[in-house]
Amino acid sequence: MHELSIVSSVVDTVTETVAAYPGARVKEVRLRVGALASVVVDSLEFCWGIATEGTALEGSRLVVNVLPVVMHCVPCGKDVELEGVQSFRCPKCGEPCLDLRQGRELEIDSIEIDEMDEAEEKI
Ligand SMILES: [Zn+2]
Repeated sequence: MHELSIVSSVVDTVTETVAAYPGARVKEVRLRVGALASVVVDSLEFCWGIATEGTALEGSRLVVNVLPVVMHCVPCGKDVELEGVQSFRCPKCGEPCLDLRQGRELEIDSIEIDEMDEAEEKI
């Protein structure tokens, strides 16, 4: 499963990051996923429970922030947000847009951890 390998690599990255905080438990991990990243958000959340089992991330929550597709429209001279991923035309002037500015992201946005003495800390 494609999503499981994505989630596994996120778990690895977060595990390395929190290794600097002994005894810390991960509470929440936020991901930024572009609408064109071709991942199924429900599958990511489903795989999260499996991939985090037995790690410092066990019991944590995965929050997926889906980013809309943004293209640069030459006739309009600015970046426009597309309403869907079916049509790559500017919603303002109707011209085809080919210059992708946002939509393929797949990255960790933030990690929230719970330390032994301190209540919360944002990395
Ligand atoms: Zn336009």
